[in-house]
This record gives sequence, structure tokens and C-alpha cells, in this order.
Amino acid sequence: MTAGSQIKVCKFGGTSMADAAAIKNVENIIRADSSRSYIVVSAPGKRFKDDDKVTDLLYAAFEARGDGVKFGEIFGKIKLRFDGIINSLGIVYDLKNIYSEIEKEIKLSSTPDYAASRGEYLSALVLAKYLGFAFADTKDIIKFNSKKVFDMELTDTLAGNALRGKKYTVIPGFYGSDPDGRITTFSRGGSDITGSIISSAVGADIYENWTDVDGFLTADPRVVKNPELIDVLSYKELRELSYMGASVLHHEAIFPVKKAGIPINVKNTFDKEKIGTMIMRHVDLPKDGGRTITGIAGKKGYSVINIEKSLLNNEIGFVRKVLSVLEKYGISFEHMPTGIDTLSIVLSGGEFKIPPERLLKEISDEVNPDAISLTNGLSLIAIVGHGMLHKQGTAAKAFAALAEKGINIMMIDQGGSELNIIIAVDTKDYERAINAIYGAFFG
Ligand code: ASP
Repeated sequence: MTAGSQIKVCKFGGTSMADAAAIKNVENIIRADSSRSYIVVSAPGKRFKDDDKVTDLLYAAFEARGDGVKFGEIFGKIKLRFDGIINSLGIVYDLKNIYSEIEKEIKLSSTPDYAASRGEYLSALVLAKYLGFAFADTKDIIKFNSKKVFDMELTDTLAGNALRGKKYTVIPGFYGSDPDGRITTFSRGGSDITGSIISSAVGADIYENWTDVDGFLTADPRVVKNPELIDVLSYKELRELSYMGASVLHHEAIFPVKKAGIPINVKNTFDKEKIGTMIMRHVDLPKDGGRTITGIAGKKGYSVINIEKSLLNNEIGFVRKVLSVLEKYGISFEHMPTGIDTLSIVLSGGEFKIPPERLLKEISDEVNPDAISLTNGLSLIAIVGHGMLHKQGTAAKAFAALAEKGINIMMIDQGGSELNIIIAVDTKDYERAINAIYGAFFG
């Protein structure tokens, strides 16, 4: 073991906690460095392609809570999974009473949060027992307000008070509680956020996020063959890439560590010597050159509302009126490129909270456009990197690569910060478009 004077928070994801063999690997990683002081865990994930993730089983158990037989079947699988892990780890740990309590509480629940959280809870209990570490329940230290919005300030104080100076503690990811003490979860994949919260609260030197891949890749490996690994990434680049589909880390995981500037190191539990991806506040790029773009990400399933009106650019309040309709229905938009007589609003497919025709009609009633239409079936591709700042030819290079493959660009959006260029293409062209852009910058 290396003697560590640093404080490291380590988060282990679902694959790292999937079975006893993986957990033994986790143990080796923790014991190899005494700085690894706070351990945040996910629920056991898949051991093989068609396996169940414990969290999915727990959501299913919640759905089946009114059907005794079905509930029993699903919950039986969860018990079997944890008992199997305990046996194979060679520890003695009887969870019978805890299982009964969980079954009872799920049946009384009106939302899935409590059920969903129990995978992380059990996972952390088992790992704490196995390692001989303390256990700290996030129910008491991670707080949400009554609207289920995470309360960073209160959490930072509570978690700091509870954990600072208490090294070697295992902490369940994914959940906290509301002001009434009811369990509340983050969105799926939220244990990454927990790791970040704990890092901030204990003043960690580094947040190690241990997962089942080598780190962030320059493109999705399901789309591009053997994309390069990104060794260093800035917080802002991470946000752009993870929001746009790079799924290694939850896209909100950055916020808690941001203020203190704690670096995140994404590493592979199953190939622990690899350096992984380091995510930092600033990435210093060489003035003469260095990389132009850091990575490419993308998502399918977008729609665009196209609005046309002559002299739109002179009409004060036009955009506000359009957006007031979206606000009325709680619809959030992704991008909004404008022209002198046109306005386009890009929505993700799931965001239509009312039938699209009705939304278009209400916008029409509000702003009386010359024409309004809807285009479905779009994909967005984000080309991300600080390296493009003040550099000529980045967009030209991407567009030329697309033109060469005969791919039509349906929309372009580049923010003033020059951190990303967003391109919309027909979904049928999505994979080809990403490969073309990848080839232009990394090929
Ligand atoms: N277990 C949760 C999920 O599957 C949270 C996590 O693993 O981060 O989404």
C-alpha cells in the first residue's frame, strides 16, 4: 500500500460492484492506496449482456408492489443477487431483517425513489462489511428541497460535518432525502453526482470515478471503430460531451466539484494501471497548435420548429412570445438559432408535453407567423473543444467532410464561447456524419 497523505474519494459503478470477483478487484484498488478514504458505490450492474441491473429490478418491484406473486418473484431475484455476493465474498452477513423492512416500505411507497435507492444502500452495506469500513447513509447527509431539487449548500454542510476526518467510510450513491426525510433519488446514473458531492464536502484532492471503460473517448465506440482516448478534459468540455451523449459520467456530476476545482479521474476498474481521463478546471493547450477538437458526441431524436416571419428581427418581443408558450407547458428547448426572418427551436423528442400540432397552433396564435412547420427525425452532433478558439477552419473542415460524403447539414449552431459547434443532420445520416467528422479531425 502506498502511504497517502491526500484524500481521495472513489466511486465504483455498477459493473465494478456486479459480483464478488469484481468487488475483490475493488478491494485491491482501495487497499493499494491509503489515500482512498471515502468510497461511493452503485448498485450491482450487469455481469453479462442480458443480465439484470439491480436498480432495474427495484424499479420493477415498485411497479409490481400491488401484485404479491410478481413482487415476490422480482424481489427474490434481488435477494439472491446480494446473498450470492455475500457468500462468494466469504463473509457472514444476514440481511433477512433488512430485506423484510425494504419489502414492507416498497409496498407502502407512492413513488419509486425509495425502492430504486435500495440497490446502492445494500451494495454499500455489503462493501463496508467486507472491507471493515464504516457506513454512512446518504439519507442523512444529501438533501433535496420539497420540489426534489438538490440542495447543495445544506448538503455540503451536513456531509462535511458527518464525514470530514472520518476516513474509510463506504457511502451509497444515487440518493438523499427531502425535508421530510423521504428518500429522493437523482436521475439514472446519479451515483456519479454523489461521488462529486462527497468530494466537495470532504475537501478531496481528487475524485476517482472507477468504471468499466478506460475513460472518455473522442467518439462513441458504437459508432466509430476504436476511437482515441481523451487523456485530459476541461469541466466545460465534459459538460458539452456528456450532455450530448458521452455516457461515461452523469452530465451533472461536474457541479459539486467545480467550485473547489477538484479534478476527476475516470479510470477502469478492470484495467487499473491505465491512466484514464483526467478532468480539470483548465486544460492548458500549447499556443502553437495542440488539439483543435477534444471529442465528438451526438444524440438522436430531435425535432425543430421552424418559424418564418418577414422583419421578425425588428419585432420587439417576438422571441419572448414564442418562448412564453413553451414556458406555459414546461417545455425546455435545446437550441434556438435565429435569422433575420426565421427562428428555429430545437426540442428533444421527449420534450413535447402536448401534441405537437397544438403547440404549433398556440405559437401561431401568439406571433402570427408567415409560416410555421415541424421537422422530425433529426440528430444533433456536437464537435467540442477549447482548441477551436481563435483557430480558423474548424467548421470548414467539418462541413467539408460532411459535404464530401453527400450529407446535408440541416442546422448549425455555434456559441460565442467557441467551445462547440452543433450540427443537425437527418437521423439516417447520423452514423456516417460522425465518422466523417471523426475522420477529418482524428483519422
Ligand atoms: N444504480 C443507479 C442506476 O442504475 C445509479 C447509478 O448507478 O449511478 O441508474
